[in-house]
Amino acid sequence: LPQFFNKTKESYRIYCESEKHMPGGVTANIKHFSPYPIVMKHGIGPTLTDVDNNEYVDYLMSYGALALGHGHPRIQQALQQQILTDGTYLFGAPHELETTFAKKIKEYIPSMELLRYTNSGTEATLLALRLAYAFTGKTKVAKFEGHYHGGYNEMLYSINPDEKKAGPIEEPVTVPESAGLLPGGDANTIILPFNHPEACERLLKKHSRELAAVIIEPVQGGFIPADQEFITRLRKVTEEEGIVLIFDEVKTGFRSSLGGAQNVYQVTPDLTTLGKVVGGGFPFGIVGGKKEIMDVSSPKTGSDVFDTMQSKGSSAEETLFHSGTYNGHPMILGAGLATIELLESEFRNTLTLANELRNELESFFKQKAVPMKTIGMGTIFNLVFTNQAVKNYRDMSKTNLFFRKELDLHLINEGIYTKPLNRYSIATVHGDRELKKTMDALHYVFTNRLTGS
Ligand code: PMP
Repeated sequence: LPQFFNKTKESYRIYCESEKHMPGGVTANIKHFSPYPIVMKHGIGPTLTDVDNNEYVDYLMSYGALALGHGHPRIQQALQQQILTDGTYLFGAPHELETTFAKKIKEYIPSMELLRYTNSGTEATLLALRLAYAFTGKTKVAKFEGHYHGGYNEMLYSINPDEKKAGPIEEPVTVPESAGLLPGGDANTIILPFNHPEACERLLKKHSRELAAVIIEPVQGGFIPADQEFITRLRKVTEEEGIVLIFDEVKTGFRSSLGGAQNVYQVTPDLTTLGKVVGGGFPFGIVGGKKEIMDVSSPKTGSDVFDTMQSKGSSAEETLFHSGTYNGHPMILGAGLATIELLESEFRNTLTLANELRNELESFFKQKAVPMKTIGMGTIFNLVFTNQAVKNYRDMSKTNLFFRKELDLHLINEGIYTKPLNRYSIATVHGDRELKKTMDALHYVFTNRLTGS
């Protein structure tokens, strides 16, 4: 990849320097790719500029978090208003925007009867699980093969991506996805097969006495949709078995549709988690759902620990612990609210553009006779190189990831950016100009770079 090295010399220099200070030269493992990640310095609208002054149409959009693109004036205004009008960045006390924002969220996702704010999607799912354990008195959680809910212990289990080692669909073999998980740590996490209703139902019934919750990305990775029948049956069986159903909509919230995936499927979970888009580009998460479950975290007589412990005979163990210095941060709520308000008028156009781009990509690959599909929902999609159906993690692992990565690196050289092997997230600022640039770059790569491969 001589072009890549030639164009990104300053990125390489900074990357080599950063390796002396951070493991792998990155602050999050996901930022890394080989040969080395590109170092960005500036973003405006749909465009990112790197430290070598190369410009890119950005489709990563910070892993889907930026629904309005980079440096949006509405977000900047919202942040300024918080500082200039209210004279503070953080109150450490309730403020009205907390309720205004809650009402806005519930307009689109009414199943979130009560909600709490967190500082990331990870914290939101962690709190959702704790709520389910406290509410049911049960101790295990089930998650799906290859689904991501944040990087903490009980969620860092999945199956081996090599299907020969993944075990049968009826009984997936659990493997850790990280070093440093304690022996026996997998005992509380049961792995389920996605989009396999019978196998999933059998496993849920088998473990139902211990299962507090099932957590699912209703659209895996934001791009592999659950089949309608699968998700409807999942709702039914969890209800019958007394298992809390958690929809992790950190990626799909305000992206699969404004009301998330639950609105598309018309299936109501017990708890929902949100993150990314709703934080307007800042660290944020929300957990919300049925009143009787959420109320387990109510401090009952106020926030004083002494009161909580003494009054009504309740003890600290009866109230679920949830706190955080930065919860409900006014600047982040302001940015989140501005994002949702803008999406109210712009989401439809963004969706149209996502569909146009998908159609153009599909016709291009058809014309080149390359087996490829786009899969996705709403404003997120992915390119997969296969002519087989892709319905879960096992199918995804069998697609041609080598070709995909090679293509991604060539497209980066031509000014089209997503982190190699990542999704395409469309923002309100993508338009016909970006679409044309993308298709031109693809034509160029196929004509001049990938010939014969
Ligand atoms: N759940 C899902 C579905 C996610 O996609 C992510 C982030 N990729 C998380 C949870 C964790 O969110 P965060 O990175 O904000 O902690």
